[in-house]
Amino acid sequence: MTDCLFCKMVSGEIKPDVVFEDDKVLAFRDINPQAPMHVLVVPKRHVANLNALDDAELGGYMLQTAAKVAGQLGYAETGYRSVFNCNDDGGQTVHHLHLHVLGGRRLTWPPG
Ligand code: 5GP
Ligand code: ZN
Repeated sequence: MTDCLFCKMVSGEIKPDVVFEDDKVLAFRDINPQAPMHVLVVPKRHVANLNALDDAELGGYMLQTAAKVAGQLGYAETGYRSVFNCNDDGGQTVHHLHLHVLGGRRLTWPPG
């Protein structure tokens, strides 16, 4: 999708701060971090949101990538949170599926 921000990151038109990449996913630091670690894991193909995810393997792979990145950045033991925001009530602002990975501070629950 030519007008999608995260597709532009996948294509290299916009260059984020990448922490992990392979043929299926790209993981990069959020521009407005909400915790010392705030990484977004996105699929390389455009999927609008969790409602549109038709590939269970890809979803599982994104979750595994979140764990791998958290481990590589040193947050496996202290802990972290991974969340998909979906549509307006979920707080989704970029309509290309992304998994937030947040760590490095004690996160509150429930979310606001
Ligand atoms: P959402 O609100 O859709 O769940 O999350 C979108 C995330 O994308 C937000 O946390 C926001 O800070 C991040 N974001 C928006 N624009 C950019 C950008 O240009 N670069 C990066 N690295 N993150 C962005
Ligand atoms: Zn996209």
